[in-house]
Amino acid sequence: MVVSGFGMNKMKPNLISQRLQKADACEALVTLETHYMTNEASNFIAEGSIATLAPTVARLFAAAIPTLAIEPPIESVLEVHNRVGCGEPIERCLIFCPDALGLHIWRSCMSHVDTIAEHADMRIPLLSVMPPKTPVCFASMFTGGRPADHGILKYERPVLRCETLFDVLLRANKNIAIVAVNNSSIDLIFRERNIEYYSEQYDEDVLVRALDLIKENRHHLILVYQQEYDDLLHRNDPFSELCNQAVTRHVQSFITIAKTALSEWRGHNNALIFAPDHGAHIDSASGHGDHGMDIPEDMQLFHWYGINSARMKDG
Ligand SMILES: [Zn+2]
Repeated sequence: MVVSGFGMNKMKPNLISQRLQKADACEALVTLETHYMTNEASNFIAEGSIATLAPTVARLFAAAIPTLAIEPPIESVLEVHNRVGCGEPIERCLIFCPDALGLHIWRSCMSHVDTIAEHADMRIPLLSVMPPKTPVCFASMFTGGRPADHGILKYERPVLRCETLFDVLLRANKNIAIVAVNNSSIDLIFRERNIEYYSEQYDEDVLVRALDLIKENRHHLILVYQQEYDDLLHRNDPFSELCNQAVTRHVQSFITIAKTALSEWRGHNNALIFAPDHGAHIDSASGHGDHGMDIPEDMQLFHWYGINSARMKDG
């Protein structure tokens, strides 16, 4: 089942921006079954890497692009922002980061893809960064930089001193909350900034906190992190029913938060983003899930973006 050696994933992250290509995420998903059967991943054409998140969100806020960013913002997202929001900067943003939800997990629960798209309709095919380990990936997502640039090259979790998306938004007087499971990578590596940090016991507490903060309607950016699927995949087959149930809970959490955001933030241009860090594969020795290799299961994923324009206040 585990496949390797696909040319696409041998591409170094710093070359991704040089080969931006028109991609059809829908086609990529439809042909997912074929990839499994034929070992040909050529139909998955990434629009860039996960590091596109930082410049894209910065641009949506009309903030400066973080200095480490090596890729341009995602053009299709900016086009929709121009059309839907008339190019006016967003004032509210939810970034929901479920750990380890790669492209291949959607094969066993395809209906979730449509469910997510109901609240974030742009599905962008992307590659993770090497090695696809959680702190390496989130550092790239929120700095826009390569691992060699932000300095997290393996599973280690120092406080990042380089410029992040959060820093450019703080300079633009934006209020930021990070809601994460206690002692997770996201909980640790973006510390020591003027951010409200909510360090919760587990995913359900993260969900409750995120809903409360959205209802308070005082943050420009709320980053929400959950990890149950990643926890389970390391002890089980990542494509098992048990793991699928955790995926379902992540999707349901996103939908619950997104519905609340759509209601509470209706007076503001806003963006709702579903942004995992990497995928996972089955380790042939243990039969359990793992990640960290340059293979499609670990590297290929989608980010979803939804842009909503402010609606007139009620009454
Ligand atoms: Zn993991």
